[in-house]
Amino acid sequence: DDNAPRTTKTVLLAAPRGFCAGVDRAILIVEESLKKFGAPVYVRHEIVHNRHVVNRLRGLGAVFVEELDECPDDRPVVFSAHGVPKSVPKAAEARDMTVLDATCPLVSKVHIEAERHYAKGHHIFMIGHTGHPEVIGTMGQLPEGAITLVETEDEARTIMPPNPDNLALVTQTTLSVDDTQGIIDILKGRFPTIALPYKEDICYATTNRQMAVKAIADECDLLLVIGSVTSSNSKRLVEVGDKGGADNAMLISSADSINWDMIEAADTIGLSAGASAPEYLTDGVLAALRSRYDITVKEVEVTKEKVIFRLPKLLRE
Ligand code: SF4
Repeated sequence: DDNAPRTTKTVLLAAPRGFCAGVDRAILIVEESLKKFGAPVYVRHEIVHNRHVVNRLRGLGAVFVEELDECPDDRPVVFSAHGVPKSVPKAAEARDMTVLDATCPLVSKVHIEAERHYAKGHHIFMIGHTGHPEVIGTMGQLPEGAITLVETEDEARTIMPPNPDNLALVTQTTLSVDDTQGIIDILKGRFPTIALPYKEDICYATTNRQMAVKAIADECDLLLVIGSVTSSNSKRLVEVGDKGGADNAMLISSADSINWDMIEAADTIGLSAGASAPEYLTDGVLAALRSRYDITVKEVEVTKEKVIFRLPKLLRE
């Protein structure tokens, strides 16, 4: 019955959300490479961890592979935003391939930090998630054994480094700010001389998106975070929402994966999106909500972002 009164719901829209400067740049690198070199352009690993982004680029002529071995010598290859171990550009150079490096400059910054620590003779702890390509990339900047991964507070309490008086620390860029601080505090307590990052390695985009979710979480009956299951920063947003007091928090890939029973039960719905989720997915979720309910959207903006990264030289010429 079209005349039946519709239920009213409030949507708290977290800002900043969605694309960061590193993701913007990485996607643009694939698009511009396709324009400059024609299709196919190979991309080693998902350029960013979002299925919708990857499928669109595939439609434009990008070919996604996991390893360099799967690329021909005579087509350009793009390295994903997460960064690659040193062995990868080396192998590409040996094959005389055209390389476009879409590693986020904030990940490269951590690579350089790790190298500096190593040059000073430090053993390095890296806080991060096992198996994540960024962790593989950062650890792969240095010889095996130079970096030890620390994933949890428990590990931080028990880990025994080879030289406890000569340590340094780097982290993955997309971690939970609060959980990471907990691990750092334990390590600092056990190893007081450990060299810490001058400014933390967790990037501005991760920090801001978590801050924005924190600002709304407590008021939310349900918090929806748009992002893929492979996206580290998106999963952290769900955790931050949970810890911050949202009654329920869940990751959705798009409007298609909304659980309508949960929406029905919620008066106030929080909405955010991970750094690799395009804004049209947020628009899609709002449209889907609007099609069933009278919604009032309140954007809660905790800060403005103005970061922009330049394209690689090869694409600026
Ligand atoms: Fe770079 Fe941070 Fe975006 Fe990752 S989340 S691509 S480190 S800006």
